[in-house]
Amino acid sequence: MSPEKLHVGVCGGGLGGLTAAIAIARAGAKVTLLEAARELGEIGAGIQVFSNVSRLLIRWGVDKIIGDNLIAVDEINTWGADNELIARFDPKLGAKQAGFPHWLVRRDHLHAGLVESARRHGVNLIVGSRVQDFQHTKESVKVTTVHGVEHNFDLLIGSDGIKSTIRRTLFPEWTPQAASTVAAFRGILPYDEVFRKVPEARQLLRNTMDAWIGPNGYVLLYPLSAGTELNVVTLFQMDHIVKTPEDMDLNEFRKLYKDWNPTARKILEMVNYTQKWPLLVLPPKKTWSNEHRNVVLLGDAAHCMQNHMAQGAATAMEDGAFLGTVIGEVIRGTIELFEAIEIYERRRIPRVWVKQQASFVSGTINMATGDEAARRNRASAPETRQVLSQTRNLGYKSGQPKPQFIRQLQLRVSHPCRSGRSLESSGISRSTTLLRLPSSTPTSFIPLNFSQPFKYIPIRHCSSKSATRKLDDPLLEVSEPQREDSDEMPSANGNTDAYTKAFNNNSAWRRSLAETDPELFESLGKGQSPQILWIGCADSRCPETTILGLKPGEIFCHRNIANILVNTDINSLSVIQFAVQYLKVKHIIICGHTSCGGIAAALDNKKLGLIDTWLMPLRAIRQQNLELLQSLDEKERALKLVELNVRAGISTLLQNPVVIDAMSESGLQVHGLIYNVGTGELRELDVGEGHEVVRSRITAFKTG
Ligand SMILES: Cc1cc2nc3c(=O)[nH]c(=O)nc-3n(C[C@H](O)[C@H](O)[C@H](O)COP(=O)(O)OP(=O)(O)OC[C@H]3O[C@@H](n4cnc5c(N)ncnc54)[C@H](O)[C@@H]3O)c2cc1C
Repeated sequence: MSPEKLHVGVCGGGLGGLTAAIAIARAGAKVTLLEAARELGEIGAGIQVFSNVSRLLIRWGVDKIIGDNLIAVDEINTWGADNELIARFDPKLGAKQAGFPHWLVRRDHLHAGLVESARRHGVNLIVGSRVQDFQHTKESVKVTTVHGVEHNFDLLIGSDGIKSTIRRTLFPEWTPQAASTVAAFRGILPYDEVFRKVPEARQLLRNTMDAWIGPNGYVLLYPLSAGTELNVVTLFQMDHIVKTPEDMDLNEFRKLYKDWNPTARKILEMVNYTQKWPLLVLPPKKTWSNEHRNVVLLGDAAHCMQNHMAQGAATAMEDGAFLGTVIGEVIRGTIELFEAIEIYERRRIPRVWVKQQASFVSGTINMATGDEAARRNRASAPETRQVLSQTRNLGYKSGQPKPQFIRQLQLRVSHPCRSGRSLESSGISRSTTLLRLPSSTPTSFIPLNFSQPFKYIPIRHCSSKSATRKLDDPLLEVSEPQREDSDEMPSANGNTDAYTKAFNNNSAWRRSLAETDPELFESLGKGQSPQILWIGCADSRCPETTILGLKPGEIFCHRNIANILVNTDINSLSVIQFAVQYLKVKHIIICGHTSCGGIAAALDNKKLGLIDTWLMPLRAIRQQNLELLQSLDEKERALKLVELNVRAGISTLLQNPVVIDAMSESGLQVHGLIYNVGTGELRELDVGEGHEVVRSRITAFKTG
């Protein structure tokens, strides 16, 4: 199938839908994303990004867009509610072994990075466009939005989240369930405020992620937003099943952790509003698509899960990347679209089901009580003692290898929908227990009938590399190999476009400027004090800072077609006033240039539309100097009009009261220049006026 024939519609612009849109656009298809919300955005809560997602962000350059808002912590600590250290994990070493980093990020920062990347990949993003209905035949899918707008696609992806319209239409009976009484609470606190109100938190909260696992609940604290904000996530067993978000009484919330570590408790007391978030789970299903395999689900729409493995969004994003890979094969002509969707389902459904169960088990371990909790902590004790013996003040001694701790969840399961197929999967975590479930145990959906006891075994020589690798789908690892190390972002048709090239130049430019002038950006970040105002032409060959060999911050600038300056243009008048009165520039330059398109248009008699209105002042100058201009040959005529236009601009400047005052009070100077685009040379015009002329104009202006 040729790229122009494949048009993919993505319903829902969350983290999963955006990832699918980018991956499919990279594969060469046309992509239209329909998002119900009026603006593309996300809530500000934090999210953990493991190597299965960080590899995608790096490959697509999204990490560069998000920048410092992606945080890599130095340690992940797991504490008992009474502050006993249960486990410590070095995520940077883990990342080295996995090949890709572990990051913490605000969801809205990650989302904004993906939106920007989707735009650069040529995805057509349509907001305020809630999909209401769709009809599907073997050939195509017709989508109708609530506003009655219709779109036709070859493939429709339902990435519309937990309340998915696409899922409801395809499978009305298949609905998310509250599989346990656990509810989540989340909030974000500024670090400044935390340290002001809880000074002792400084010893605890360094560049670390800290979890307290106590009876019936756990608390997770980690930095966000370049280290300025603290993310707070807590999960507790409730006395009832939470099915929809419920307001939480703060006193009731505080009772949940009243006997916990005092520092953690004081931090949690700063949370002044929270809700109970339900943790809903979709039971497994044989298929996520329609009979034609041209409407298919991904992310929470297909497999929402409890959040204890921090894999919900990550799995949605994996789905999207996987779809990009198989659709790439469709475009290359190796498989048909329906086969691509079948491969997607065959690979993703069992894998996701294991993650759903692993999340459930992980949460159960974290919230263990009584003997179960004691067994869990005992299993971790040998490694924890080893950590403590190597640490001083709970920090590592420099030069010593940092021990790795890992909890490996080994689940050997048969998917209820695919009997006979067995699967093994592992997940990383902070604890040191090995959980083995008998292969006979979870033959159906674990959260609904899980009853087998856990067996905790400490791991001494567990390879975190193999464990983290297993989080990543092997097919994702081999996808797009030719682009793996490329910084350049291709356009939808596979070529590197001008915008992409320009954008990618930015990092090299920034680095080289920072090398030659290390303090430049820091000082520019504080403000500007340019000495020159430049009024020039918008022509691409006349970049003022480059022509003058200056740096950012040295020129305040106004450019328009043919550097026209008239005293009725509010835009240029505002620029002049701001530059002269507030920035207190010392020089104003008006610069015309050779081979100017605006000048040529004004000398010509063709009608150009709206631009003619803008060029009126130039045509007036031409009219006033018609005789002179007609006496010159074509080249000289154009150059003369350039000069006359600069002089007219200077004359306008000299009638501007702000300029007149600054000339007399602070010695502001005005200059007229002509730039030769063919040689790069600047020529000064003599625009000086005699002292008497200036004085008489000032007087005339002031008196009347
Ligand atoms: C407390 C908590 C903590 C979590 N922490 C993590 C974590 O650390 N790591 C992690 O990976 N996951 C985490 N998750 C899970 C994660 O939030 C979800 O799994 C993820 O957001 C799902 O992404 P999605 O794109 O499938 O759906 P969503 O993010 O729900 O996006 C769906 C989009 O579709 C749009 N939409 C809905 N209906 C329509 C329609 N009819 N037409 C058009 N558009 C529509 C919506 O407006 C929305 O933009 C956490 C969840 C919770 C509750």
